[in-house]
Amino acid sequence: MVSIRRKNQERGYSTTDKIKMFKCPYCEFSGKRSEVHNHLAETHGDTLGVRVDEFTGHTFYVITCPVCGASYEQVTKKARRDPNFVSEYEHEIRMVVFDLLLYHLQGEHQIDA
Ligand SMILES: [Zn+2]
Ligand SMILES: [Zn+2]
Repeated sequence: MVSIRRKNQERGYSTTDKIKMFKCPYCEFSGKRSEVHNHLAETHGDTLGVRVDEFTGHTFYVITCPVCGASYEQVTKKARRDPNFVSEYEHEIRMVVFDLLLYHLQGEHQIDA
């Protein structure tokens, strides 16, 4: 038999634990850095801007900080219309770009405090 009280005691950790919690800058989601990182790539991919350089054909992914408006670009030499451009690759790019954003948020806005 599992009592509800005991379950509650076992769940979660206190704020004094050393695990750093991150908060999603777009919604109420929070978790470990890797969890927030995945969450961003899966849920907030539409916050990324995409720009294609007409001259080189390279695709730029642009992430804009929701707090201060700073933006970062990640270039990929694969064109979006390239038949080899699979959605898995897009996911990888999202992970890279949101990693930049998380570093920025950590460094500039202390979201992991
Ligand atoms: Zn979110
Ligand atoms: Zn910022």
